[in-house]
Amino acid sequence: MFCTRCKKEGAVIRIAYSKEYLCRDCFIVFFNHKVKREVEKHKMFREGDVVAVALSGGKDSASLLHSLKSMGLNVELKAIHINLGISGYSDESEKVSRELAKSLDIEFTVYDLRREEGVSVDFFKYTPYKRKICSPCGVIKRRSFEILAKRIGANVVATGHNLDDVVSIFLSNFFSGEFSYISSLVPVQQPLMEGLPRKVRPLIRIPEMEVSLYAFYNNLPVVHKNCPHSSGNTQNRYKKMIALMEEEEPSFKFKVYSVFRKKFQPLIKDERPLTKCARCGLPSSGNICGYCKKIEMLKSVKLIKHIS
Ligand code: AMP
Ligand code: ZN
Repeated sequence: MFCTRCKKEGAVIRIAYSKEYLCRDCFIVFFNHKVKREVEKHKMFREGDVVAVALSGGKDSASLLHSLKSMGLNVELKAIHINLGISGYSDESEKVSRELAKSLDIEFTVYDLRREEGVSVDFFKYTPYKRKICSPCGVIKRRSFEILAKRIGANVVATGHNLDDVVSIFLSNFFSGEFSYISSLVPVQQPLMEGLPRKVRPLIRIPEMEVSLYAFYNNLPVVHKNCPHSSGNTQNRYKKMIALMEEEEPSFKFKVYSVFRKKFQPLIKDERPLTKCARCGLPSSGNICGYCKKIEMLKSVKLIKHIS
C-alpha cells in the first residue's frame, strides 16, 4: 500500500475520515500537525507558561508529552504523576512515567497519595463505592493535579484526554443526568480561583486509535495493563457502543463531540456558587470539597480496618 502523502510504499494506517493512507513518518507529522492546530486554535499556551503535563503511565499522556515537546513551544514543560497506591498498578505506572520524562529530559514530580494522606484509592472497596471507584478516584486525581501544579510553580495542567474519552464521558454523563462534568470538559478550562492552574486538553479531538499508534511508532514507554479497578467501568462500556456506531458512520465521534461542544455545553454552564473548602482552602461547592470528603472517608476505612 502506498502512502497518500509521500507516495512511498509502506502505508500503515488508513485515516477513514480524510480518506488517506499514511506511512509511519507521514502519520507522525500528520498527528503533530493536528495537535498543534488544536493548541493554536484554542490559544492553549502563552509564552512563558509553566506547563505540568499529567503523565498517567498510559499511551495518551505519553503521546501528549512527546508531541508537545516536539513542537518546540515557548513554554517550560514539566511532568507530574499521581501515585494512587493501587496495588499491582500504581508503582509500575509511576516507573514508566518517570522513564518517559527522563528520556525526554523533562523534570518529573510525583504526588504520592500514601505519603501525602496515608491512604490508597484501593480502600474505596470497603466504602459504599465498592468496586465503582473511577468516579471518586477522578475527583482525587483532579485536585491532586492542582495541588502538585501549585507546588512546582506550573500555571497550566495538560491532560491526555482523547476524542473517544470525551465522547464517552459526554454520553455516559448525559444518560445519567450528571451535566456538571460535561460542562467542564472543554479544550481550555479557566481556573476556578486565582493561583490555580488553567487546564488544557490538546488531544481532545484526536481519536484514541491515532494516539495509540503515535505512542507505538515512537516507541514510548507505557504500562500495558489496565487499572484493576477499570473492569465494568461505564466509560469503557460507552467506548464499545461508540465503536459500533462508528462502523456505521465513520465520523460519528466527531459529530457527537461537535454537538456537545457547540449546542449542549452552552446550555448547561455550571453556575453552582463556590466557596473555599474548610479543610484545604481550595474551591468547593460545599463546606468541604470532594477531595477532602473522599480522603476523610478513606482515612476512616483505614482506622476501622487497620490497613497499612
Ligand atoms: P483518565 O481519567 O484515567 O482517563 O485520564 C485522563 C488523563 O488524566 C490522562 O491522559 C492523564 O493526562 C491524566 N492522568 C490520569 N491518571 C493520572 C495519574 N495517575 N497521574 C497523572 N496524570 C494522570
Ligand atoms: Zn478540600
